[in-house]
Amino acid sequence: MGEGPQATIDPRVLASCAWRSMSAWSRCLEVDAELTRRDRQRRRVFPFIVPDLATRLRVGFRYQPGEVDGIHNLLTISLFDPERFRGAAHRWDQSQTVIVDAGAATPGFVPGPLPSGRWQVELDAPEIVSDGRATGPCSLRIVVEVHHGPIPSQPTGTRDPWRLGTVAAAAGRGPRWYRGDLHSHSVHSDGDDTMAEMANAAASIGLDFRAATDHNTISQWLFDEPRSDGFLHIRGVECTTYFGHANVLGTSDWIDWRDVSVEDGARSILAQAAAQGAFAVVNHPSDRGYPVCTGCRWDFAPSDIQHFDAIEVWNGGWLDPATGNPEALALWTDQLMAGHTLTAVAGSDTHRASEYQRVDQPYTWVHAEALGEREILDGLRSGRAYLSCGPTLTFAARAAGDAVATLPGDRLPPGGFALRVDIARLAVPATLWLVADGSARRLGDVSPPGVTLQATATAGSWWRLELRGRGPDEPILTMTNPVYHGDRPAPEGGGRRFTRA
Ligand SMILES: [Zn+2]
Ligand SMILES: [Zn+2]
Repeated sequence: MGEGPQATIDPRVLASCAWRSMSAWSRCLEVDAELTRRDRQRRRVFPFIVPDLATRLRVGFRYQPGEVDGIHNLLTISLFDPERFRGAAHRWDQSQTVIVDAGAATPGFVPGPLPSGRWQVELDAPEIVSDGRATGPCSLRIVVEVHHGPIPSQPTGTRDPWRLGTVAAAAGRGPRWYRGDLHSHSVHSDGDDTMAEMANAAASIGLDFRAATDHNTISQWLFDEPRSDGFLHIRGVECTTYFGHANVLGTSDWIDWRDVSVEDGARSILAQAAAQGAFAVVNHPSDRGYPVCTGCRWDFAPSDIQHFDAIEVWNGGWLDPATGNPEALALWTDQLMAGHTLTAVAGSDTHRASEYQRVDQPYTWVHAEALGEREILDGLRSGRAYLSCGPTLTFAARAAGDAVATLPGDRLPPGGFALRVDIARLAVPATLWLVADGSARRLGDVSPPGVTLQATATAGSWWRLELRGRGPDEPILTMTNPVYHGDRPAPEGGGRRFTRA
């Protein structure tokens, strides 16, 4: 079957947008189009003019059908004022109304004054299943209007996302292990619950921190209100491209996710993260991907992974076939064998507060100097982290010359070492494995609630510990980052990144 041309779209930019009445909406832009599969994974830009003294802006956005043969079409919009990003609606709703004014905005969008001049709505098409023939086209309508009347809404989210400053460490929370979620969503993209509901749910199960990594937007940061219990918000964004997803954590500004191609290895995202001193993670690289989860699989070259700070080897439940966690673990092992010391991380990737009650949800333990955004990310950069859906695991390894390693990321001389492992909070029978230079060796069986195990071993360049359940699939319950041997560069994150050519 021959492929026809992509759709031609003629947006109507309306002169009637000028000030006419204090009580009516004035229309600035209308877009009507019929899109098909040939328009998928393509961005369209629709400029319009916002007149002087506008007080509110409204974008109506609608497409149909929502799904074809059980597979979703997915269209999303983003909004830009003459100077900067004003938000994105990366969610599944086929019919949305976005309102932005000086004091409030629809979740996903940033409130603030509406400067006059050339704005633009951008349309992304992560997936269009409609073929234009047997299944008809996907019809699209976008309408942009402005209002000049007084703002009726109560201000919400009045913090300025561009001036949030640094996130201070919680007082009195010194050097130790902290446990948190490095990947989660809220109503600011395709999640069901508010930032407060998500933070309350995470705190209620004893987590110390949570990164709100909504897709392609930053408006969630406006709702990171400081908490009296010291629970830490980590600022993040999930850069959701057509070719892979990447979390940028500890950001202080919007990350432009748009300027990537499958050939460039997400260089522009890495360059922006590096410029902000942020931490970049390859997310769920072995996910099932298109057409069900758009862009979720890592379609950039596998060799591009080495330039990131970390790789998410555990996303959601270990055995969830959608996320391909065992394949992600194998990808990370390939990186370690090639000498790239990326940190492995876990993330629940939950989109609703109730999922914090799931017993198979993985979180990341980080050994940090304090419970602060910078300190947690420094701990991750140094590889001082282990991943777990419940059990705790600590160890001490003693090598020649009284060299001792007590944290993942530590370094020992090459050769033999004596190992002591303490496991607690174990709910099911399990087996402890030592993975050294890519080969696994069984260290012993462990019964609930925990045990201390001793062993001797040798390693050439790295080893790590893995606690697995005893079912047929041997799900991972806990896994550490490596202890390294010899003189390879320490996992500090420096020097690995691309810089923009
Ligand atoms: Zn994702
Ligand atoms: Zn996600």
